[in-house]
Amino acid sequence: MAGHRPVVFNGPSGVGKTTLLKMLMEEYDGVFCKIVAHTTRDPRPGEVNGKDYHFVTREVMEAGIAKGDFIASTEFSGNMYGTCKAAVQAVQAKNLIGTLDIDMQGVQNIKRTDLKPLYVSIQPPSMAVLEKRLRDRNTESEESLQKRLKAAKEDKELSKEGLFDVIIINDNLEDAYRQLKDALLEEINKVKKVNMSS
Ligand code: ADP
Ligand code: 5GP
Repeated sequence: MAGHRPVVFNGPSGVGKTTLLKMLMEEYDGVFCKIVAHTTRDPRPGEVNGKDYHFVTREVMEAGIAKGDFIASTEFSGNMYGTCKAAVQAVQAKNLIGTLDIDMQGVQNIKRTDLKPLYVSIQPPSMAVLEKRLRDRNTESEESLQKRLKAAKEDKELSKEGLFDVIIINDNLEDAYRQLKDALLEEINKVKKVNMSS
């Protein structure tokens, strides 16, 4: 697929991916654009259909996957998640850098496609901090929280295995954001250059 290289964000649930991505979108409006994924999970309070996710039923999602509409899809913590080709193309057609927030299985799936994104891993300073963030966020049932912590532990070793171009520890938020911007500066400048000359 032509266009700017998308950026894939991975890291355990509760590490701060959504928070960092929001900061990036606010500062670089007109450079980044979220590639909106599909999910079968219920919306959290404040989440908007079509903006945070396309919230769909399992039947709709399975039919889309069977038709080949998705680049990659996965089952995470009892729900399905996936990114459709149309969502990626819509962002690339606008000459923006698409951002994707995907789990470890998704990263491995995307590695097998021709998408060729930049891979950014966001990691917590410790498992205890991660658990506190997830609990304080107050969005998960105890069951969902335990599934997310289990997935985080399983993915911990894989995240060190050279799958990523950049690994950022999100301890202090401002420091992590600065590191993220530094890592993406080259791509940001490419978009700005194209937009200035058009
Ligand atoms: P994710 O999208 O990775 O699941 P979120 O962005 O929802 O994670 O962050 C989980 C919680 O942690 C949120 O309540 C967020 O405000 C908080 N948070 C994010 N980064 C930090 C940080 N560096 N220090 C403290 N709290 C943070
Ligand atoms: P949440 O329910 O907290 O929004 O997301 C749970 C997990 O699903 C996160 O780790 C997130 O990265 C992952 N996820 C969200 N969208 C996709 C997607 O389209 N594909 C894959 N593989 N994972 C996704």
